[in-house]
Amino acid sequence: PLTQRIALVSGANRGLGLEVARQLGTSGMTVLLGARNLAAGEKAAKQLRRAGSDVVAVQLDVTAQADVDALAARIEQDYGRLDILVNNAGAFFDIGDRASSVDVSHVQSALDTNLLGAWRLSEAAVPLMKRHAYGRIVNVSSGCGAIDSEGEDCPAYRVSKAALNSYTRMLASELRGSGILVNAVCPGWVATDMGGPGGRPVADGAAGIVWAACLPPQGSITGGFFRDRAPIAW
Ligand code: NDP
Repeated sequence: PLTQRIALVSGANRGLGLEVARQLGTSGMTVLLGARNLAAGEKAAKQLRRAGSDVVAVQLDVTAQADVDALAARIEQDYGRLDILVNNAGAFFDIGDRASSVDVSHVQSALDTNLLGAWRLSEAAVPLMKRHAYGRIVNVSSGCGAIDSEGEDCPAYRVSKAALNSYTRMLASELRGSGILVNAVCPGWVATDMGGPGGRPVADGAAGIVWAACLPPQGSITGGFFRDRAPIAW
């Protein structure tokens, strides 16, 4: 039952991550709200607890392997399992840059957060999911990482999301039949600090992520790329 599920959301102190944590919490599961600034995480978690959800703030900088290891050990000890991982933490490092001139250190930063952050957490999560043959991993990606996307701005961000999509497919393929479903989701253009005020409501963007996080075993949807529950081009 959903009430026994343990979910971890990275970058959940604001924006889409916070809304995903809120929606998952409302469905009755225990939500671990990841934040690289624990004070900001505690503040967000308190807000969700006040609304009646079981939400615990946890220290999590996705670029810090030590944070990931410590959190995995804590989840193991406190719950003995993890059911849902939402790799949501993400950032721009290169708005306004071009592929021919972007500072390569920005590319490294984008990959470290947007690709390797998800990779580190997934490696920590898979053993905690395999144990009970149930898992849902959602990589929050972007349509701008699609191979045919023609935009030229933020090349490091685009490449990091394209790589995240590629990782999604590989991991899903490896885990096929294990009970662990792995999908990439584009939330669409959403009005967060990242998206700016013109985007659609955060709840709408989060809904597609929550859908992938709560997929039923029937049909075993895995290795896909979705926006608003519909498949989109890689
Ligand atoms: P925000 O900028 O509003 O929030 C980003 C979140 O990620 C914050 O909680 C931030 O923490 C966290 N974060 C950044 N770096 C790290 C890190 N190293 N470790 C842990 N947490 C980190 O962005 P959104 O909510 O809009 O974006 C969420 C996801 O959705 C991202 O992956 C983004 O790429 C994706 N997306 C968003 C779109 C949009 O239109 N908004 C469109 C397509 C995809 P802190 O508060 O400490 O900075």
